[in-house]
Amino acid sequence: MAAVQEYDCIVIGAGVQGSFTAHQLAKNNKNTLLLEQFILPHTRGSSHGQTRIIRKAYEQNIYTHMMEECYKLWAQLETDAGVQLYRQTGLLLMGPQNNHSYKQFKKNLQNNKVPMVLLNNDIFSQQIPYMNLPDGYEALVDLTAGVLYADRAIKAVQEQFQKLGGVIRDKEMVTDIKPGPVVTVSTSACVYRTKSIVITAGPWANKLLTHTGLQLPLQVVKINVCYWKEKVPSLYSLKQGFPCFILTEGEDSNHDIYGLPSNEYPGLVKICYHMGKETDPDQRDKQTDRSDIDILQRFIRRCLPGLVPEPAVVESCMYTLTPDHHFVLDCHPSYSNIVIGAGFSGHGFKFGPVIGKTLCELSLGQVPSYDLSPFRIRRFQAMSKSAL
Ligand SMILES: Cc1cc2nc3c(=O)[nH]c(=O)nc-3n(C[C@H](O)[C@H](O)[C@H](O)COP(=O)(O)OP(=O)(O)OC[C@H]3O[C@@H](n4cnc5c(N)ncnc54)[C@H](O)[C@@H]3O)c2cc1C
Repeated sequence: MAAVQEYDCIVIGAGVQGSFTAHQLAKNNKNTLLLEQFILPHTRGSSHGQTRIIRKAYEQNIYTHMMEECYKLWAQLETDAGVQLYRQTGLLLMGPQNNHSYKQFKKNLQNNKVPMVLLNNDIFSQQIPYMNLPDGYEALVDLTAGVLYADRAIKAVQEQFQKLGGVIRDKEMVTDIKPGPVVTVSTSACVYRTKSIVITAGPWANKLLTHTGLQLPLQVVKINVCYWKEKVPSLYSLKQGFPCFILTEGEDSNHDIYGLPSNEYPGLVKICYHMGKETDPDQRDKQTDRSDIDILQRFIRRCLPGLVPEPAVVESCMYTLTPDHHFVLDCHPSYSNIVIGAGFSGHGFKFGPVIGKTLCELSLGQVPSYDLSPFRIRRFQAMSKSAL
């Protein structure tokens, strides 16, 4: 085994959150190592795939507020890397009239003066042809929203990190963490010593936290990422101006349904259910439940008559859910030099630049730019003392 190597900071996990955190640390002149268990790029965590939705439409003010800065930081990365990472499409949000969640989205957008349009039934059919608004539903469009090119974004931020002297070691699984004023990190290839670590291990967060004596109430679920064929090519394409959309939970589904215009695979529209069935991240493909696909098929038959109601492609991804679906952004309760970014609950990608900045601030002992109380570990104690 090679001699022990030293770094100012080690980030564990090179998904979107670890990559942005490592980049921020390097920007702050910290000699930083980013460790990844698989050969990069890989498709076994939560950050792979070509697209994600970016939006300001949220029920909670804190997320809309964070998104203000995120858009600027995404644009900065586009400029620095010289690649397009964002395409504005708008987000069509549909929800049952008087539905609490839908009303909260609308109120929060209005309070934050986010550019938006309310669509009544007539305008809906003019603006969004080939889509049926379910009976009793209302709709609005968050005009700031769009598509992020996910794989491209991760490549871009990792390259920027390396340009600043940051080191990425992939195919190097962290096998042990020994906490202390100096943290010792053992991997399948090496032993490292560092002043601080950041754990951004996605679905494997609890596995790593075991070495630090902490378990968080996280649930890992497998998501069937479904692509549906257009009956007429380009009917729902980005070029034709079809927006991203979210249908909030309603009569037919307990969770949101979301979609993105056809783009990455010509003629195929990505539409997914915002929930899946529990899985072990190392055994992801043993989870073969497809009940979400039944729900999606019913929705497509009813609302998107221009799509073949049978998925043409099904890929896999994972969410790591917290009980309240808010993130974990905090220091370890027993070790202030171990920072944790976890539980992104299926909506963390768009926040990557601000999550990276926040985890970096925590790691450097700085006052965080945002009120992190919704994201602190202690909130779980109130929910269930036995979970920790
Ligand atoms: C189908 C799908 C659609 C989504 N859509 C959206 C969307 O539209 N908008 C949005 O904002 N978000 C979306 N998300 C959520 C978003 O993609 C995730 O919140 C985000 O990717 C989580 O990133 P992460 O870095 O925490 O985890 P990951 O990407 O899983 O990264 C963790 C990394 O840690 C590595 N690792 C784990 N253990 C070890 C170890 N012991 N040693 C070394 N490395 C290790 C893993 O291999 C992995 O690469 C979606 C997610 C999915 C699955």
